[in-house]
Amino acid sequence: IGLPNEIGPKAEGKLGVNFDERFDGRFLTPQNVWIPSIDSGIERWNGISGADWTFENHGLSAGFADFEDGLVTIASCGGLFACPDPLLEQPGSSVPAFFSETPEHNSVIAVTLVVDDVATGGIADADIFFNPTLPISPHPRVEQIDFESVLVHELGHALGLDHNDNCVVGPTVMGAVIDAGEIKRELFRAEREGVRFLYPAGGAPAARIFDRDKTLRFDAEQGGLSPFPQTVLIFGPGGTKWERTITTPADVNADDWLRAIPEKGDFPGDGEMEISVDPSSLPPGEYRATVEVNIEGHRGQPVSIAIQLAVLAEESPGTDPPFLTEAGITNSANLRSSRLAGGSLFTIFGSSMATSVEQAASWPLSTTLGGARVLVNNEPAALLYASPTQINGQIPRGASLGPGGIVVRNGFGDSAPVSIRIDAAAPELFLVGDDDALLLNPDATVNSAANPAMSGSIVSVFLTGQGAISTPPAAGRPAPSRPRSQVISISAAEIGGQEANLHFLGPAPGYLGMAQGNVQVPAGVSGRVSIRIRIGEIWSNVGFIYVN
Ligand SMILES: [Zn+2]
Repeated sequence: IGLPNEIGPKAEGKLGVNFDERFDGRFLTPQNVWIPSIDSGIERWNGISGADWTFENHGLSAGFADFEDGLVTIASCGGLFACPDPLLEQPGSSVPAFFSETPEHNSVIAVTLVVDDVATGGIADADIFFNPTLPISPHPRVEQIDFESVLVHELGHALGLDHNDNCVVGPTVMGAVIDAGEIKRELFRAEREGVRFLYPAGGAPAARIFDRDKTLRFDAEQGGLSPFPQTVLIFGPGGTKWERTITTPADVNADDWLRAIPEKGDFPGDGEMEISVDPSSLPPGEYRATVEVNIEGHRGQPVSIAIQLAVLAEESPGTDPPFLTEAGITNSANLRSSRLAGGSLFTIFGSSMATSVEQAASWPLSTTLGGARVLVNNEPAALLYASPTQINGQIPRGASLGPGGIVVRNGFGDSAPVSIRIDAAAPELFLVGDDDALLLNPDATVNSAANPAMSGSIVSVFLTGQGAISTPPAAGRPAPSRPRSQVISISAAEIGGQEANLHFLGPAPGYLGMAQGNVQVPAGVSGRVSIRIRIGEIWSNVGFIYVN
């Protein structure tokens, strides 16, 4: 890795980082599970060098990593992602090295591909690929790998740092190895000095905070309880001091209601400020103030935190209890039928259900989201997404077979119970476009008219409603990659009306409620043909696959 003197769009002082929206969950894992770790990971490098750049989160990217865009794209290799040549098992093959049986490949957690800028001798672009076969988590348990620790390490490569095992004793962020359950998110002195060496200081940088902390809103009732305090993380170069000031419009005295503690601190370490409000002496109304954070000796713009406090005159008016009907309960794979099994992903359409819009943000999934719960035969379901008009979640695995009922509950009451039926299996293929099955070709690209599968090749099809599986994960948890679990019932597949070899059918690792079937396309079929899966005696809906 060459020493950079220019990197990415440095003229603007920004190094963009973006996040491929298909990363581990184009369909089911909310992307925002990963975002806080990305924001935190990129902030750890900002301000270290004192040079004129900062990492900046450019949000989600829908395209494959572009090796010339100057953006650090965080992606995965395999599955829904194209793999660049250096990450293929063999030159010219389409099999990602991450999926090979070679142990040294399998244990690679992530790779950063750096493109040198020939003209300047610096780095033109760098992109990070995570291994989708490993249990990587933003909130790791002991047997999982910490996403943020690995990301901080890979961003170090993107900046031009190599491993430092041979020159530093003890665990460091840029050490080549990390163990499951190990957290190495904080930069060590070795990494700080390394990045200062590559990017010599050119001026004192500003303090920084996460975008999400730039506006803090508090809601309170007149004479009611104080809202919970909110904590802002402040980042700046080690060895400098920060100080905050509070400004308000002329007619408001913040001393009456706003606290921001402490008033000053030293980097690194004391970069945390707690902001709280006390509405007890305030008449109803909207109150605003600004907290500014400045680094000692820095002449640029201070960081600005907008504080908004709303004091309501009386209790907010009551709303209705949830309302839903049988027609509004569907499987999540295609929203076409209400067939459900234990473990099925469901989608409920109704009204007045959740009291806010909320996506699940971490494992295990909660059974309360957006102020709403879904009770399946009186048992709460793990929820992925909740809004007033739509709730997505998973039928509890142990739900008893036969007729049952769903009730949606919020703070204003329960819906009337709505009848459902739980079957031993209710396979429902995920559909895209015009009834096309969601399918991956052997090279892990999405099957389509323009990208058909060869007859004889093995494709992956995705479904929910698979019913009983071996070694099921704990409630609200995704399927682990090891041990690989399988559908217990005898199952089969059909393509173009012909029996097709079903090599594997089981939960898709890393996903919740979704199964993957690996099916061999029979010889002699071609064009746009039907595909369906049978579990026990129950056939799935029909989707379509393109075969060459
Ligand atoms: Zn490395």
